[in-house]
Amino acid sequence: MSTTDAVPFDPQAIRADFPILATVVHGDKPLVYFDNAATTQRPRQVISSLVEAYEQHYANVHRGIHWLSEQSTDLYEEAREAVRRFIHARTQQEVVFTTGATAAINLVARSWGDQQVGAGDEIVLTEMEHHSNIVPWQQLAERTGCTLRFVPITDDGFLILEALDDLLNERTRLVAVTAVSNVLGTVNPVAQIVSRAHAAGARVLVDAAQSVPHAATDVQAWGADFVAFSGHKMLGPSGVGVLYGREELLEAMPPFLGGGSMIRRVTLEGFEPADLPAKFEAGTPPIVPALGLAAAIKYLEQIGMDAIRRHEMQLTARAHEVLEALDGVRLLGPAPEHKAGITSFVVQGIHAHDIAQIMDQHGVAIRAGHHCTMPLHKRLGVAASSRASYYFYNTLEEIDQLGIALRDAQRIFRRGQRRNDG
Ligand code: PMP
Repeated sequence: MSTTDAVPFDPQAIRADFPILATVVHGDKPLVYFDNAATTQRPRQVISSLVEAYEQHYANVHRGIHWLSEQSTDLYEEAREAVRRFIHARTQQEVVFTTGATAAINLVARSWGDQQVGAGDEIVLTEMEHHSNIVPWQQLAERTGCTLRFVPITDDGFLILEALDDLLNERTRLVAVTAVSNVLGTVNPVAQIVSRAHAAGARVLVDAAQSVPHAATDVQAWGADFVAFSGHKMLGPSGVGVLYGREELLEAMPPFLGGGSMIRRVTLEGFEPADLPAKFEAGTPPIVPALGLAAAIKYLEQIGMDAIRRHEMQLTARAHEVLEALDGVRLLGPAPEHKAGITSFVVQGIHAHDIAQIMDQHGVAIRAGHHCTMPLHKRLGVAASSRASYYFYNTLEEIDQLGIALRDAQRIFRRGQRRNDG
C-alpha cells in the first residue's frame, strides 16, 4: 500500500464521516469513544457500502450461475484483493476470510497444529498474549501432548528477547506472538522475532488484531507464516476477519471445517478439497461483511496508514502526560514512543470498574477488567486495569477529557475515603 498520505490529516473532517461520534450521552455529555481496542466505529462510507450491497448486489457467492451471484462473487473476490494489497500478501490464495482473528488462530491450531504438532513438541507464546492466542494452543496441547512455553516480559512491558533465544530449540514448532499488546500497547519487533524463530526451524503466527488497523502492514517484510486479524477493529463490520498464510503452508494443510464450497468433489466414500482459498472457507462466507471490510480498507488507504500511526502516537504521548501528572496512577507498559494507541492504567485505591463508571458519567467510554489477558494481569500483579484505546478520529482535546474525568474519580473516592476515616 501507499506509504504517503493521500489527503491532509484533519481529525474534525474525519469525525464528520462517523455519525456515532456525534452522540451525546447522559443528557449533555459528548461521547468520547476510547474503547477502540475492543472495536472501532464505522464511517458512513462503510455503512453505506453494506446498505448498497444488500440493496443492489446480494446473492450467495461461488454458487449460482446467474447474473446477481456472479456480481456478488466478483465483489467478494475484489474484497480479497483489497485485503491482499493492504497487507502486501503475494497472492489472493494467501488470504482466507474467517469470522475474525479468533477464528483465524483456531483454524491454524486445528488444521496446521493437528497435522504438524505431536507429543514432546513445543509451542512458544508470550506472557502478553490475548486469550485468543493462548487457549487454542492449550487446546492443541490437550489434544497432542505438546508443551507450551512463554517468553517473559520486563516490568515495563517489553518482551525479553534473550529469553526467546533460550526457549527456541529443535522441538519448537511454532512461535505465536502478538504484534501489539492489547493492554500494554507494546509494539513488538515482529520481523526480528520471525527471523530468530525461523533460524531455529519454527513457524511463526502473528496475532495482528491490534496492529493491522493502526499501521502499514507488510506480511512479506515480517516474513511471517500466518497472520490473523479482525475487520471490526479497523472500521469494518463484525463477523469478518482474515487469516493470511504463506501459500505453500496453506496448500499442505488439511481443511478445518467441512461443508459446501470447500470441496472439489464429494462421493459417498469421501471428498476432495477445493483449491485455495476456498478449501478454508466452508459454507456461506461472511459475504457482505467482506465487502464492508473492503470499503473500510479503501477509507483507511485514503487517510494514509502513516498519518494514522503518527496521529495515534501524538494521542498516546498526550495521554501519558495527562495520566502521569496525576498522583497514584500507574501506567502499564512502556514509554509512549514504544506503544500503539493504547494506555492501560491502575489507580491506587479505586477499582478499575469504578473508574470506568465515573468516566462514563463524563461521557468517556473506556474498558475495565482483564481485557482477555488474565495471565498478563497476574504477571503485572494487578487483578484488573482501566484501558483507554484510541483511533485516528480521536483528538487531543478528548485526551484532556480523560484527565478531567479521572481527576473527578479520584476526588470522589478521596472524599469517600475521608468520610470513612472520619
Ligand atoms: N488478539 C488481540 C490482541 C485482540 O486484542 C483481540 C480482540 N480483543 C483478539 C485477538 C480477538 O479478536 P476477535 O474477538 O475479533 O476475534
